[in-house]
Amino acid sequence: MTRRQLSGENRRRLVIASHNTGKVREIGELLAPWGVSVVSAGALGLPEPEETGTSFVANAELKALAAARTAGLPALADDSGLEVRALGGAPGIYSARWAGPEKDFPRAMAEIERRLAGSDDHAARFVCALTLAWPDGHAETFVGTVEGCLVFPPRGDRGFGYDPIFRPDGATETFGEMDAAAKHRISHRADAFRQLMANCLASDLPPG
Ligand code: IMP
Repeated sequence: MTRRQLSGENRRRLVIASHNTGKVREIGELLAPWGVSVVSAGALGLPEPEETGTSFVANAELKALAAARTAGLPALADDSGLEVRALGGAPGIYSARWAGPEKDFPRAMAEIERRLAGSDDHAARFVCALTLAWPDGHAETFVGTVEGCLVFPPRGDRGFGYDPIFRPDGATETFGEMDAAAKHRISHRADAFRQLMANCLASDLPPG
């Protein structure tokens, strides 16, 4: 399959379809070596579309396409979350919403533990869907994952969200205990970005 490239002029101003300044900064740092300059949807005054999709991919695509069409520039969006096998994939696309408006992740993690009571299947994965969209409606989407299992009680105070209960396969530490560089080497987000870079940014010189 031929992927559309983000090339030439389009690398000068890529919209990051997020109002989360931490996320925009992190994505900007990842893309800088490819000569891509980013601007946030917030800085452009773009509205935040409602996440009405029923999958990570649908939500990433609707956010990226809305930003690209409104700004008249290519746009990148991601949507991510935790899928617990014994809970049929919950909290999934509702991962942020389970923590409520006050972003109470200890409560969300306790809710997962409560629902898992009696089950010895603790398998889980993080998923990240990443969409690069153009103003003409074209979109390229990549899905990254990291498999692991849940541990209780939560361990570690690094990272964010559900990191303290997620131990990736092959590791002894949870994402909440690992240092950031170790998490970023294996995370679902890193997996999705590697695919994006290999498929849509590889036409020009990769970073040395
Ligand atoms: P969104 O993709 O910004 O809508 O948020 C996804 C939600 O999934 C976050 O609020 C976290 O709850 C969860 N999540 C996504 N990625 C991670 C991760 O790397 N560690 C922990 N939680 C995550």
